[in-house]
Amino acid sequence: MTGIPDLEARRASQQKRIRIMLDAMRAEDQAKLKGGETAVAWVKEEQCIGCDQCTIVCDDDAIELYDTPLASPIMEIDVNRKARIIRDECTGCQLCVLACPTDAILMIDR
Ligand code: SF4
Ligand code: SF4
Repeated sequence: MTGIPDLEARRASQQKRIRIMLDAMRAEDQAKLKGGETAVAWVKEEQCIGCDQCTIVCDDDAIELYDTPLASPIMEIDVNRKARIIRDECTGCQLCVLACPTDAILMIDR
């Protein structure tokens, strides 16, 4: 009979396999992105859910969140947060693009 230690070992092995696969996929994504001093990040406002992940990874303080009314006829929420890039501070490092869960950030020509 399969015991808890067996299940834990299988789970750890699956986690490792998934981590390696995700890292490889992200490496491919990163290789396709523009970057460096000729590029700057850009937020697609309609895809931003205000989750704050990009501001956490940006160590150049190049992203700020701002409040905007939520455009929904069925939800009564006064404030909806969105991210925006402070272009002069952005170094084109791409970290925010890789961190964004909704693919709301692009790298564009500066
Ligand atoms: S990580 Fe993406 S969705 Fe989250 S606040 Fe930043 S741009 Fe918006
Ligand atoms: S590309 Fe780098 S420096 Fe520019 S906003 Fe994203 S994380 Fe910050």
